[in-house]
Amino acid sequence: PSFFENMPKIELHAHLNGSLKMDSIRELGLQLYGENSSDFLKRIQEFTTFPEEMDADKLSKCFQKFAFMHELTSSRKGLQLATQMVIRDFARDNVIYLELRTTPKNNEHMTRREYLETILKAIQASREAYDGIIVKLLISIDRSQGLDAAEEIVNLAIEMKSQYPTIVRGMDLSGNPAKGHFKDFLPSLEKAKKADLHLALHCAEIDNEDEAQEMLDFQFDRCGHGTFLTLKQMQQCKEQNITIECCLTSNVKCGTVKDYDMHHFKRLHDNGIRSVICTDDCGVFDSTLSQELAIASKVFSLNRNNIHGLCINAIAAEFCDDNEKTDLRQRIDKYFADNT
Ligand code: 5GP
Repeated sequence: PSFFENMPKIELHAHLNGSLKMDSIRELGLQLYGENSSDFLKRIQEFTTFPEEMDADKLSKCFQKFAFMHELTSSRKGLQLATQMVIRDFARDNVIYLELRTTPKNNEHMTRREYLETILKAIQASREAYDGIIVKLLISIDRSQGLDAAEEIVNLAIEMKSQYPTIVRGMDLSGNPAKGHFKDFLPSLEKAKKADLHLALHCAEIDNEDEAQEMLDFQFDRCGHGTFLTLKQMQQCKEQNITIECCLTSNVKCGTVKDYDMHHFKRLHDNGIRSVICTDDCGVFDSTLSQELAIASKVFSLNRNNIHGLCINAIAAEFCDDNEKTDLRQRIDKYFADNT
């Protein structure tokens, strides 16, 4: 295994339904559909195939890919197994601290509350099963869905935080950024903030300077992507102590960034604005956190100190308690002391 594979890692931006690796999707298909899984297995290919050419609509097309996973996790059994497999796959990549985020769904098998309870139980069982990995849950609002759903989800998040205070730590705003308006979700997010839920919001994922400004002025903890932040807005992030979650392969495959070397991570890094490397959807984008760090290191000529600095950034930005942070810091510092 490489330096990055062996390294104890921290993942702060991972959508549950996008994080199931190809092999685990196969495994899940077999477990759920048994002998009838061949039709399902044939469709796997289209799930991770991306068109080569740039296309203005590429990001929207990426969002359609999630329907495939949502089918698999539409039953309690599928959701529970998928959650376990996602955590297992991160643990196999030596991720020692994971913040998973997901949008609660309701369908004929589950209410949104049951969706969350199923995941929370799977998370509780995961720690012993997978090398003591620490897993937190961020509950997502999908901006392409209505305000009623958002309000229900915030209320559930507040309730779940009191029931599972060590796991439910925050909220996310995600979904197709071309749909919905941030302003409409403000009252719900205000409520979450007042209830001491941390906020990791997708912001400036597409070019919409005014909306990014509204979000920054509202103030939140971590910015997902931040691709189209202006330099002034990046400086504002620095002043407001907002960490930017950079997801290299995701941005390149979705076409919001032309190539790795054009990624805004460089601008953030060069300007001393706190950022971290994350996977986003390591299943859909067929990557791992180790690979993302290796790419960052190569493309932006990062040395071991820089990589160590990224880990320290991640610890500072985690939504967990100080004693957990201290323990993680010791484990990571030891790895760097032993390997330089
Ligand atoms: P889930 O919430 O179903 O567990 O994870 C998949 C969902 O996360 C997608 O349907 C989408 O709403 C959201 N998501 C995943 N990746 C991205 C991304 O790169 N940008 C945004 N805005 N949302 C995403």
